[in-house]
Amino acid sequence: MTELLETQLTVEELEAIRLRDLEELEYEECAQKMSVSRPTFHRIIVSARKKIANALVNGSALRVTGGNFDLAKYELACRVCGHHWEDIICCRRTRCPVCKANDWCKVNT
Ligand SMILES: [Zn+2]
Repeated sequence: MTELLETQLTVEELEAIRLRDLEELEYEECAQKMSVSRPTFHRIIVSARKKIANALVNGSALRVTGGNFDLAKYELACRVCGHHWEDIICCRRTRCPVCKANDWCKVNT
């Protein structure tokens, strides 16, 4: 029964809400930060808001699950152009902001 009272939010949805609704960034910027297209970002945030609304209205618990996102920011180094930047790590989507390569590594500080 507890499953019925729980709404599961993905880490990506949480990040979308954080960028758009807390940091109040423009859609374009949010999409860029998450390395997704604008329509994809829109789809993620619509889904997130619906889940949150559902949790509020129906009094269910919100739980953040899954996703392939690590929300902590790390210093990353591009193996192609040597650029260093700080970003969240998402294996499929994190790309060098300069040359767009996805060949990067985490810098141990
Ligand atoms: Zn690069």
